[in-house]
Amino acid sequence: MEGGVGMKARRGLIGTMVILAGLIGLAALWSGCGGDQPVDPQAQKLLVIGIDSADWRLLDPMIEDGRMPNLAGFLDQAATGRMKTFVPLEKSPLLWASICTGVEPEVHGILQFVKGQEEELVSSSSWRAPALWDILDAAGRTTDVMGMWTTYPARDIAGVMVSDYLPYADKGPLPKLVTPDSLTDAITALRVTPEAVTRQDLARFIPADLLDEAEAAYPRQVQELRDVFASDLTYLAVADYLAHHGAEPDLFFFYLRGPDRISHHFYQYMAVDKDFVHADPAEVAAFKDVVRNYYAWVDEAVGEVLGWFPPDRPTVVLSDHGFYGPRQSGNKGVKEHSEWGIFAVRSPLYRAGVRFGHLELLDICPTMLALLGLPPAKDMPGMILSEPATSDGAKRLSRLDEHRVESYQGLAPASGPAGERNPEIDEQIRKQLRSLGYIN
Ligand SMILES: [Zn+2]
Repeated sequence: MEGGVGMKARRGLIGTMVILAGLIGLAALWSGCGGDQPVDPQAQKLLVIGIDSADWRLLDPMIEDGRMPNLAGFLDQAATGRMKTFVPLEKSPLLWASICTGVEPEVHGILQFVKGQEEELVSSSSWRAPALWDILDAAGRTTDVMGMWTTYPARDIAGVMVSDYLPYADKGPLPKLVTPDSLTDAITALRVTPEAVTRQDLARFIPADLLDEAEAAYPRQVQELRDVFASDLTYLAVADYLAHHGAEPDLFFFYLRGPDRISHHFYQYMAVDKDFVHADPAEVAAFKDVVRNYYAWVDEAVGEVLGWFPPDRPTVVLSDHGFYGPRQSGNKGVKEHSEWGIFAVRSPLYRAGVRFGHLELLDICPTMLALLGLPPAKDMPGMILSEPATSDGAKRLSRLDEHRVESYQGLAPASGPAGERNPEIDEQIRKQLRSLGYIN
């Protein structure tokens, strides 16, 4: 079989060379004929803020009430829309992998959380398609990505990858939490433990006068809140560190998983007007505002992240699906997801205040590549969103669309060893997935 592997590697190499030639040709196209001004490299940097499960039906009334001033300010400068996610409804790792690769789940291979009878957790070596950071790497560009699903063990990319296992750092040893290795100590030192979440922190989400009672009567829920908030605080601290140390990457990809976990655990307390939702009144009093209060914190985090970059930095804020909340069927997990996520883009290529009409999940990757000044591939089924583009923006976007490369598949990461597993951590993660209804 050695010959086969060699052939595969060779095909990969040729594929990469073809892609590189395409990208170099495109750079020439940009700077050369056509009368267009050369593009400022700063304008081809991109900030992405991923908020798992954010839904306009929750955000719009909060924005109206003045509870999300940072997002509201950003949206004033952005083109926005409802993003149609995959139907039937799916789990977040699969959706984010399609957002990052621009291809369908059967192609990128991130279909499940666990595989086999042993329920072995799916690792970063399962990606069968290149993600944005792999494509940027081939184009000589850099990415900092943190907290994204299915990124343990962290892979060597041009830039920094902080895997989604950082919250488990104390259960170690866990090699490859972070790449490059030189950052591991600095990054793991930023971890916020659930125990470090203070009463003051909790009182942001649960009324202060009910806190003791809630902690005594409903320890599981309060512990969940601690875990989720500690994890999001950790990645916010990581993002802060990366934004202020080292060279600024071309793509800065910040992601918060907390809003989805919070929604799965606390949305029901907000939905007690539905006759099939039953909860103890004291429990409802303690937890009914947790979801909205959490989003008010998310807004602060968004404001903080936006504030680290120039005010005109091209930026995408998005979710992978929306959130509907409890259903009559009583089914948890993906059944609570809604098919409409959020998408908003601030860029000189788009007119502010315009709503997207058509906007589907697979359009996001081609559009983000275009924002980075790179063409999508012909084997990416989505389109570059150009409906709310300015006239100059429309020209640039259609030029990129006309120069799609054949395929980026040659840049797919080699499937390597799954990395060292830690049974205790794996079980903790399985428990979390089970509590979300994502696995049985
Ligand atoms: Zn979910």
